Amino acid sequence: MQKILEINNLTRHFGRIRAVDNLSLIVEEGQIFGLLGPNGSGKTTTLSIISGVARQQSGSYSWFGSQGDDPRARQKIGSLIEVPNFYPYLSLVNNLRIAATIKNAPAGDIDRVLKVTDLYKRRYSPYRTLSLGMKQRLAIASVLLGDPQVMVLDEPANGLDPGGIAEVREIISREAGNGKTVVLASHILAEVEKVCTHVAVLKEGDLLASGRVDELLGGKQLYMLSASDPGKLETVLVSSGLVQSVARSGEELTVSCSDTTTAEDLNRFAFERGIVLTRLVAIKKSLESQFLELVK
Ligand code: ATP
Repeated sequence: MQKILEINNLTRHFGRIRAVDNLSLIVEEGQIFGLLGPNGSGKTTTLSIISGVARQQSGSYSWFGSQGDDPRARQKIGSLIEVPNFYPYLSLVNNLRIAATIKNAPAGDIDRVLKVTDLYKRRYSPYRTLSLGMKQRLAIASVLLGDPQVMVLDEPANGLDPGGIAEVREIISREAGNGKTVVLASHILAEVEKVCTHVAVLKEGDLLASGRVDELLGGKQLYMLSASDPGKLETVLVSSGLVQSVARSGEELTVSCSDTTTAEDLNRFAFERGIVLTRLVAIKKSLESQFLELVK
């Protein structure tokens, strides 16, 4: 797979705030890459730097293998960092005409992007009459002008209702299906899980984890176990090599295992050591709790 974006040791501090600290990551062609993190974790700062609207203090990034601000590389990237300043009294078509002129994109592309974002029927409506979801789709339409190879989107579903979020997700997935690479920031774990193929989890400028979404966020299994002697059960499980972590609350133990460890493995292991389980329940670890664990 072709490397689309490479970030090496990127750093940007604001006084004592480490907005981005020594961040390194690679995005490959066709990925929908999510930067996931709570508010203030450095997502916008990172996207602003790689979009050329802010500067790093140290470190570097390269698009398509060319360092820094190569205008030829830039032309292949459509960024949405802040909602563009559309003119409230102008129609969607006229707003996009202005955007196309600024971006040096062909005006002939306007109808296409309006259709892709399902706004074609509203093309002559004044911008101010759009719903929030439509306004966000128009912003995405403007990013798609000139058919860039890469989309960089900061919180594309922010503030939208579930229907609006689903529409934005659909557009992103469809564009990725057509071969675009997408880099997006989000603080909503469920969204990242639904739309992204890869994720980097950020906290206060640090990279906590990165990898494939299914491996990183979905790969663990939780079990709840009880026995008449929970202390003994805890001791044998900790030294078993079967579990990654054990948390005890009264009589009950919650253990986290790799997804290859089955309930039968745990049951047999305990029984062979003279412990009869009084309860054994498999619970798939929620993504929410894994995310909270990562950013704790
Ligand atoms: P959010 O989801 O709230 O947008 P974020 O993950 O995008 O958060 P950033 O906006 O990149 O985070 O901010 C990272 C940190 O850097 C925050 O503590 C923020 O207050 C700080 N910061 C960002 N820009 C500036 C600035 N221009 N001056 C001072 N501090 C800044």
